[in-house]
Amino acid sequence: MKLNIGVIKGDGIGPEIVAEAMKVLDKTGQVYGHEMNYTQLLMGGASIDVHGIPLTDETIEQAKASDAVLMGSIGGDAKTSPWYQLEPSKRPEAGLLKIRKALNLFANLRPAVLYDELKGACPLKEEITQGGFDMMIMRELTGGLYFGERSTEEVDGLMTAHDTLTYNEAEIRRIAKRGFDIAMKRRRKVTSVDKANVLDSSRLWRKVVEEVAAEYPEVELEHMLVDNCAMQLVKDPKQFDVILTENMFGDILSDEASMVTGSIGMLASASLNESRFGLYEPSGGSAPDIAGKGIANPIATILSAAMMLRFSFDLDKEADAIENAVSKVLKDGYRTIDIMSEGKMQIGTSEMGDKICGYIG
Ligand code: NAD
Repeated sequence: MKLNIGVIKGDGIGPEIVAEAMKVLDKTGQVYGHEMNYTQLLMGGASIDVHGIPLTDETIEQAKASDAVLMGSIGGDAKTSPWYQLEPSKRPEAGLLKIRKALNLFANLRPAVLYDELKGACPLKEEITQGGFDMMIMRELTGGLYFGERSTEEVDGLMTAHDTLTYNEAEIRRIAKRGFDIAMKRRRKVTSVDKANVLDSSRLWRKVVEEVAAEYPEVELEHMLVDNCAMQLVKDPKQFDVILTENMFGDILSDEASMVTGSIGMLASASLNESRFGLYEPSGGSAPDIAGKGIANPIATILSAAMMLRFSFDLDKEADAIENAVSKVLKDGYRTIDIMSEGKMQIGTSEMGDKICGYIG
C-alpha cells in the first residue's frame, strides 16, 4: 500500500521526535510491504521564518491532498522567541487552530495508557493501577461551549457574562459514530459522558448516542454523569475502554486521564474529520527547554504514528507491531530522561527510535 503522509516537523523538539516516528514508519513499511511517501509541510514558527505567517493556504491544500498528517509540536519560548513579538493571529499556535478548522477536525482522540513498566510514574495507589489500564478519550472538538455565543455586559448595574453550549443532532451523531467505530477496533465498550440530569444539550446527546448505539449491537454502551466520571477515572480507571464526550467535558477529563499515566512524552493524540483523514501529534508542546539536546522522548510521536496507521489506513496489524515494540523496549528497561527511574538504562531520542525499530519484524 502507498501511504501519502504530510509531515509537519514543527519547532523545538518537533524535528527530533518526528524524525524518530518516520524512522519507525519506514521500518514498519519495509517489514509489511508499504511505501511511505512523505510531503514536508511548514507550520508554526518554521513557517513564520520562511513565509512570515504560521500557515499558508498552499500548506493547507497540501495537507488536504495527503491521506494523513503527522505533526511534531509547534511554538517556541514565549519570553525569548521573536515569534511572540508578532500579533496573536500571526504567532505559531494560530497555525494549529487554523489547520484544525480548515480540515474540519471535529473528533479528538487521546489514549491514556498506563504501561505496567511505568506505573511508578502514576500518582494512584498500586492496588488501583495493578496490571495497568488502557482507555481512549474521544472528545468533540468543534462545538459546544467553546464555540457558542458569548458576551459580557452590564445588566442592572452588575457586570454579567454568558456563554452558550449548543449542539445539534448531526454534530452529536458524527462524533458518536466515530466513537463506536473506534470501540469496534478495541474492547467494544463506550462510556458516553454527559450531564443529562441538568443540561438540555446532554439530554439530546444521550438520545442521539442511543440511536447510534442501536447500529452497533456488538458494542456495550453505558452512560455516566461527568462528575461521576471524574471520580471513576481515579478510583477505577480499568473500567474504561472508549470515553465519548462533548468538548468541555473532554477537555477536562482527557487532562485528568493523561495525568494519571505519568509523562507527557508518552501521550499520543489524533484529530479526525468525517473521512479517514487525521492529524496525528504528541499531546505535549515543543519543549524549547530541551530542544536540540537529543534527550526528548519520541514515544508519544511514535505512538501517534501508530494511531495514524490504525485510523487513517486501517493497518491494525502494523499499528499493533509498533505499540508492542514500545512495550518491549520499556520492558527491557530503556528510558529517556523524562521517564527515567532507578536501575533503568537512560538513552537519547535517536537511540529510543532505534530500539523500537529493532523490535518491529
Ligand atoms: P511543553 O509540553 O512543551 O513542555 C512542558 C515540559 O514537558 C517541559 O519541561 C518539557 O521539557 C517537557 N516535555 C514535553 N514534551 C517532552 C518530551 N517529548 N520529552 C521529554 N520532555 C518533554 O509545554 P510548554 O513549555 O508549556 O510549551 C512550549 C511551547 O509548546 C509553547 O510555545 C506552547 O505554545 C507550545 N505547545 C504546542 C502544542 C502543540 O503543538 N500541539 C501543545 C502544547 C504547547
